[in-house]
Amino acid sequence: MNPFGLHALVLVIDWDESGAEKAIRTAAAIGYDLIEAPIFDPASVDLKRTRDLLRRHKLTPSVSLGLTAETDISSADRAVSAAGVARLHKVVDATAFIGGNTVAGVIGSAWQKYLVPPTDAGYKNAVSGIREVAREARGKGVTLAVEVVNRFESNLLNTAAQAVRFVDAVGEDNVGIHLDTFHMHIEEADAAAAIRACGPRLRYFHVNENHRGYVGAGSIDFAPIFRALVTAEYDGAITFEAFSSATASPTVAGNAAVWRSVFEDGEDVARRALGYLKEGTANARRAIEQARSA
Ligand code: MN
Repeated sequence: MNPFGLHALVLVIDWDESGAEKAIRTAAAIGYDLIEAPIFDPASVDLKRTRDLLRRHKLTPSVSLGLTAETDISSADRAVSAAGVARLHKVVDATAFIGGNTVAGVIGSAWQKYLVPPTDAGYKNAVSGIREVAREARGKGVTLAVEVVNRFESNLLNTAAQAVRFVDAVGEDNVGIHLDTFHMHIEEADAAAAIRACGPRLRYFHVNENHRGYVGAGSIDFAPIFRALVTAEYDGAITFEAFSSATASPTVAGNAAVWRSVFEDGEDVARRALGYLKEGTANARRAIEQARSA
């Protein structure tokens, strides 16, 4: 069974002292198995407190981030790419410390709109940089899942096919793909086929409506997506993500272009989403069993 996760920023504005506590307590009370902690810079987080809160509420963490222009691992400038490697090493250490085993998000490039395509040198730096971080992460039991995001949020990995090539070029078994239904809805011709194409490389999954609000209340057709996850025998976390101006931090709001309120009550959104994920995956299993026995 897939663990069901909740992105903390559905509930709170930031993973600061009060935000972390509220997110962990609320996600556990709703019944989630996992909380996704946005930790862009571990130096700004009280990791011991985070670890203790997670233990107290029996919640597993995943950690996500987006690299910045200053830590762009896909930069052709070796010093900038190396700064990205250094940042990811710190995030891997923090993840292992708080009891997590997955670092996800936009870690193959900066999380930003690019005005030019990636360079060959930058692509090679990203591949070798992720490989270097992964080799260190393996000993700590941490997997890196590179998120595939739409063209306005990165120039490197916009489709699952690109991510398959990237992950195969890295060639480390603790590096995989992080897909997100919001981004797939923009870029993929067939989201279900994209999921199946990742095969065992798929290591993390975001469920996200096209408007990033209440899931099931938008224009994404989730039934084939859940069926593809079952068919691909994906057993990793399925994490609900949503953003509204009511709960978005300035960093996230800027990069994700969160300019309006699509919900006010994050707890209600999160509660309904967990029901939707459970029902969606259960229905997908039933459909596939029924088709097999017909
Ligand atoms: Mn996402």
